[in-house]
Amino acid sequence: MAHDLHTHTNRSDGENAPGDLVMYAATRGVDVLAITDHDTMAGVPAADPAGKVSGVRVIPGIELSIRVPHGSMHLLGYFSDLAPQPLTGLLAGFAETREERAREMVDRLNDLGVPVGWDEVRDGAAGAALGRPHIADALVRAGHVPDRRAAFDLYLGDGRPAYVASHGLEVDEGITLVRESGGAAVLAHPGTLGLDRAHLDPFVGRLARAGLAGIEVHRPEHSPDQFAAYATLAQRYGLVPSGGSDYHRSTSPYHPGDTGDPPLPGHTIDRLMAAALG
Ligand code: AMP
Ligand code: ZN
Ligand code: FE
Ligand code: FE
Repeated sequence: MAHDLHTHTNRSDGENAPGDLVMYAATRGVDVLAITDHDTMAGVPAADPAGKVSGVRVIPGIELSIRVPHGSMHLLGYFSDLAPQPLTGLLAGFAETREERAREMVDRLNDLGVPVGWDEVRDGAAGAALGRPHIADALVRAGHVPDRRAAFDLYLGDGRPAYVASHGLEVDEGITLVRESGGAAVLAHPGTLGLDRAHLDPFVGRLARAGLAGIEVHRPEHSPDQFAAYATLAQRYGLVPSGGSDYHRSTSPYHPGDTGDPPLPGHTIDRLMAAALG
C-alpha cells in the first residue's frame, strides 16, 4: 500500500473536492493520505467522512507559505487534530494575507498592460485560498495566454514581472507555530529554494535547530542525484525523510501515491509525529 503526505484539494488550488480526492487516492492503493492545502485546513474535515468510508487514514495537514527574499518556500505541517490550535485561529488572517498579495499581482498585471479584473480572479477561486494558479486561470480565460504554463512563464513564475513574493510567516515563526499547534514541520520541495548545495546544507541545519522534523526526499520528480542529496541532508541533521506526490489535478504529471523511486516508506507519518513530540 502507498502513503502520500502531500496533496491539494479545491480548498486551495487543486481540482478535486476533498472527499473525491480521498476516494480517488483509495482507488490508487493509497492508505495513508495527508491533505496539505496552501494556508488552509478547510479541506480536512470535509475529507474525513470519505476517509472513514474508504479506510484511507486521512492526515490533517497544511502547506504554509513562508516569506523568503527570492524563490518560494513552503513548510508542511502535520497534525493529529482536525483543527489544531493556535494555528486554526490564525488561518482567517492568512486568507487575508493571500488576498492582499494576489491583489498586488493583479495590479502589476494591469500596469504591465495585461488587464485582468480582480472580481474575475476572486470568483474563479470559488472561495478557495487564493493563489497564483487562480490568477493564471483568469489570464487564460481573458485570452492573454494559451494556458497556465504560459501565464507562469511570462508573468507569474518566481522572479517574473508580475510575481510578488509571499507575505507569509518567517520560517522560524512557521516552524514554531506548527510545533506549538502539536504538529510536525517538514520542509517542502527543497529544490525550489533557489539555493545551491553549499548554501542549502547550512540552511537546513538552521531549520533543524529551529525544530524542523522532516524534509521532502521522496518526490516523483526528484532525480536519483536529488534523492541522494536530500537523503544525505536528512541523515546529517536528524530529519525524517518525507515526501508525497504534490498532486493538484487530473492533468498533473503525478497522481496520489506517486512518491518516487524508492517510494515513501510506511510509518513515515508516525516517525514525524514522534519526532515532533520529542
Ligand atoms: P502561490 O501559493 O500563489 O505562490 O502558488 C503556488 C502554486 O503555483 C504551486 O503550488 C503550483 O501549483 C503553482 N506553480 C508555481 N510555479 C509554477 C510554474 N512555474 N508553473 C506552473 N505552476 C506553478
Ligand atoms: Zn498548489
Ligand atoms: Fe509547494
Ligand atoms: Fe504543494
